[in-house]
Amino acid sequence: MTPKHNIHCLVPDLPSPSEVMPLLEEMHSNRWYSNFGPLVQRFERAMEAFLEQENGACGFGVATFSSATTALELAIRALEFEPGTKVLVPALTFPATALAVLNAGHEPVLIDVDAHTWELSPELAAKACAEATYGAVIPVAAYGRPIDGAGWAAFQEQTGVRVLMDVAAALGQQPIEDTLTYCFSLHATKPFGVGEGGLLVTQDAQLIDRSKSLSNFGFSGPAGVIQRQGTNAKFGEYYAAMGLAQIDRWPELIERRREVMNLYQQQLNKLDNRVGLQAGMGSYVPAVFPVYIKNGAEALIAALDAGGVQTRRWYLPPLYEHPALKGTKGAFGDDPSAFPVCEDLKQSLVGLPFHGFLSAEDIAKIISIVSEGVS
Ligand SMILES: *Cc1c(COP(=O)(O)O)cnc(C)c1O
Repeated sequence: MTPKHNIHCLVPDLPSPSEVMPLLEEMHSNRWYSNFGPLVQRFERAMEAFLEQENGACGFGVATFSSATTALELAIRALEFEPGTKVLVPALTFPATALAVLNAGHEPVLIDVDAHTWELSPELAAKACAEATYGAVIPVAAYGRPIDGAGWAAFQEQTGVRVLMDVAAALGQQPIEDTLTYCFSLHATKPFGVGEGGLLVTQDAQLIDRSKSLSNFGFSGPAGVIQRQGTNAKFGEYYAAMGLAQIDRWPELIERRREVMNLYQQQLNKLDNRVGLQAGMGSYVPAVFPVYIKNGAEALIAALDAGGVQTRRWYLPPLYEHPALKGTKGAFGDDPSAFPVCEDLKQSLVGLPFHGFLSAEDIAKIISIVSEGVS
């Protein structure tokens, strides 16, 4: 069987068995496999140090979960809003952002994104908050683009609306702001891939304690007694072993991804702005690589497909088009006309291959197909 695509869109880059083996041997001799074991604890402390070194986090606690989705859901539940509280969510995101709100017993309300960053801005959220009462807002680091923390810290301070950052794909890139709370993903497809897992990062020690307790059925305090109605959403020792090995690989991983981004940018520069990129690209390394061609997504996907290049339409369709989210309200109206930027991106964004195994030849081939498509 010949594969249809010889250039893949995303190839995970995780530690090899030999890199993880010493940690697995340690786990085996500990005979401790889950329930906040020694490797999970070591990984949490190591991530605190990592976030301080890479992103300036100071005095932050890190808690691990089975995924970013459960980290977000349990952080929301730990905040103990009234059931059915409205939570503002951008319509351009991975469905998990809205699912975490629904699974926590609240109402996601959708809002459009900014035309340049493709993210929800504090200005847009403030407009929504002037018209209705929200308990929280979940800005999303779209495609791994780090979110402007200062703007959101000011928003939270001025409105009193809690800000939970869904920065699932931005681990290592997202600067950490004192008063804000962050959820990162360790899924295999993210730049910092471990397999499955999520991190909650906050200075709020009570939020860490409560969400950890919720991830372990609601146990806390006296042994064998549940204090809240939790679930099982714990990280485990196998994944912590992968995570510890991945920390050591990170400098090389991110360097390689940066080289791939630079190659793309050099080649795209030759196309005289006929292909748009997410605002600020180059000052950070994205998780995936969507390009903007006005109303040209469908034709470009077909051309790349015919050339053996796999693409993905990350975060599309927008959340309001998913059958399972039908009936979800919009902050400024429920119909697609309330989301002009998402409607435009839907016709215009294509995720090009982006991972550390791409060669300069691969990128040249991809860009030559793109270039024919936009000429
Ligand atoms: C990947 C992703 C998630 C989900 O992360 P998991 O760890 O797989 O649950 C949530 N939100 C965004 C924006 C993502 O990109």
